Amino acid sequence: SSLAAPRVVPTIYERTTAAAIAHGAINLGQGFPDTEGPDWLLELAARAITDPGSGPRNQYAPGMGLPELRAAVSSAQQRRQGVTLDPENQVMVTTGATEGISATILAFARPGSEVLTFEPHYDSYGACVALAGARMVGVPLRGPAFRPDVDALEAAITERTSMILVNTPHNPTGTVFSAEELRRIVELARKHDLRIMCDEVYERLVLSDAALPHRSILTVPGAQDVAVAVGSAGKSFSVTGWKVGWVTGSAELISQVRGVKQFLSFSSGPAFQWAVAQGLDDDRGFFAANTTELEVGRDLLSTGLTELGLAPNAAEAGYFVLGDVSGITSLSAVDFCAILAEEVGVAAIPVSALTIQHRAEPTDELQRLVRFAFCKDHATIAEGLRRMRERL
Ligand code: PMP
Ligand code: GLN
Repeated sequence: SSLAAPRVVPTIYERTTAAAIAHGAINLGQGFPDTEGPDWLLELAARAITDPGSGPRNQYAPGMGLPELRAAVSSAQQRRQGVTLDPENQVMVTTGATEGISATILAFARPGSEVLTFEPHYDSYGACVALAGARMVGVPLRGPAFRPDVDALEAAITERTSMILVNTPHNPTGTVFSAEELRRIVELARKHDLRIMCDEVYERLVLSDAALPHRSILTVPGAQDVAVAVGSAGKSFSVTGWKVGWVTGSAELISQVRGVKQFLSFSSGPAFQWAVAQGLDDDRGFFAANTTELEVGRDLLSTGLTELGLAPNAAEAGYFVLGDVSGITSLSAVDFCAILAEEVGVAAIPVSALTIQHRAEPTDELQRLVRFAFCKDHATIAEGLRRMRERL
């Protein structure tokens, strides 16, 4: 078969969380908040399940998602980005952003083709490209600023290229792509007839000192001919377990992605979808408060890592900050993270796990970087830092 089976080992996130539990380590590895989402949102979902007055919420949702949620996503994109989306056929709800990513890659990455992405990248991209029978080609994001090099992206395009995967705001670097960078990426895709999957799950998590606001790829003129954008309620509302996401774009591209999605999960939890729709319509100040909380966590973690000599990057968005181990050890980030979990009691993720086939040349700066999550309770972050100060 031309299809390469993806790795059968559990993901780096699950392994890190399991190691954290086994060693009693503070988990600064897997990116999930250790607080629940806002109480009112949880209550809305609970009520949607048990109160028949809110409509049937415990049987299959429509394949495209609850109309209420499609309308809410469409209104939010209009308000925030000035992008007009017909909720009938330009917004499709998915089982987390993860399913939106898989369905999009399976729809557009032709077998035997090449798919371009900036490295490091979110791990599911590589697995989905392999499932599609395509090959991932990486273009490095280089520190300290980790800006996308669009010239290098262009140079990597061949006649076999079928897709470009973009992620803004970016996991794990926190880079927020500029309007100009997005414009140039769209221009390349149009010129070479490529499709773009733009993962925007951290769209609500841009910190107040970021140089740039989040811009959806769909704001670029002409983008809708080639690009779809993916969003996540889990990330937006700190309810990662709910697994509600969405894909937006032209009716034509969304219908192609739907063709795949309907045979992945068909549909997912209508009660969660209903609650998320209410939350998008009126977030009751949650987004601003959450960003402030994240910023305090980012500052606490970054200051601590600086004092430890781990020279963190200036993360502007998302859940993560990158530390560089080369100032304090000649160990690779992989070996450093093993010692950190087992002997120091702190779990973190080597950035080389977020690269193509775990590529790891010793000279590569990606090999020296460790990803720490700041989407954690501030006491948890402080305890992690205390352990590192004491035991490193
Ligand atoms: N994309 C990126 C860049 C992510 O970091 C994550 C999860 N942390 C996802 C997608 C998956 O989102 P979801 O939980 O909604 O499936
Ligand atoms: N997105 C989260 C991270 O980057 C983890 C998601 C997962 O475990 N699949 O850490």
